[in-house]
Amino acid sequence: MGFEHVLCNFCNAEDHTVLFEIFESPDERQPPAWRGSSAIPVVRCNHCGLVFLNPRYDDERLTALYQDPQMFKGTIDPEGNSRSIANERSLRVSRFQHEVSALHRIRKKGRLLDVGCGLGFFLEALGDDYDAMGIEWSHPVTEMLKNSPLRVFEDRFPHNPFGKGEFDIVTLHSVLDHLPDPMGALYAVRDLLRINGLIMLSLVNFNSIASKIYREGFRLLGPNHLYYFTPTLIQRYLTRAGFHVLKIEYPYFGTEFADPVRHTIKIITDFWALHMVRQKKVRISPPFYGSMMRIFALRYS
Ligand SMILES: [Zn+2]
Repeated sequence: MGFEHVLCNFCNAEDHTVLFEIFESPDERQPPAWRGSSAIPVVRCNHCGLVFLNPRYDDERLTALYQDPQMFKGTIDPEGNSRSIANERSLRVSRFQHEVSALHRIRKKGRLLDVGCGLGFFLEALGDDYDAMGIEWSHPVTEMLKNSPLRVFEDRFPHNPFGKGEFDIVTLHSVLDHLPDPMGALYAVRDLLRINGLIMLSLVNFNSIASKIYREGFRLLGPNHLYYFTPTLIQRYLTRAGFHVLKIEYPYFGTEFADPVRHTIKIITDFWALHMVRQKKVRISPPFYGSMMRIFALRYS
């Protein structure tokens, strides 16, 4: 119940190889819709190499997740700590300053849409330089923003209330890999952008050092995280959707997560335990250079 089998989103192939399994969290502090005890296979397409969950949550289960009023109020982080993201507003907004600076280096102004904007942390971090608005599917989240000055539209992307070519910039921060159809979403972004408009994506990098060493212990895996891109595959996606990739960055140094000495020591220690001594216990990766990627691309047609 709650799962569906899918074809490869990029090449439509049916055959794939199971890499390993991840597990739902049974933690009772999680909101009910986020709790479970199933193992979910992480698979790689035998034809194009795309990595995704299969079988994965069906639409009913995804709806339950994103429409859960507790979504941003009571979840558990990879270390097992209780978090209320809604109560961490100033921290979360300041965390996005790094993304705003990265965008500023490429485009300093313009009409901007943030897809899957959540509580609007990125929109708030942007300040007044951009004519910015967001789109968010979660009704409880848009309700929380009702009295906020941020412009947030409630809709389930790729469905949206905007016209073709209406935007100079579209951003998706840790959103594309959560959508059931990322290819369709990129076509929709292309249509929303004017020619030469900019797409900015933040994504987990499945080709990272931490992903390779920790496998199922890579901290950025999760049951609602339906796809895992590599730099090569996201470039193929963007090219097919009509984009020209400008650059790929790997945010870590200079972010608040960076602790290079401690993280490098942990990775070496864990590498030894996992691959030399071959301990069976799953270890959770620390944040590290390469684990996240930030991509800028231009609509060319
Ligand atoms: Zn494929």
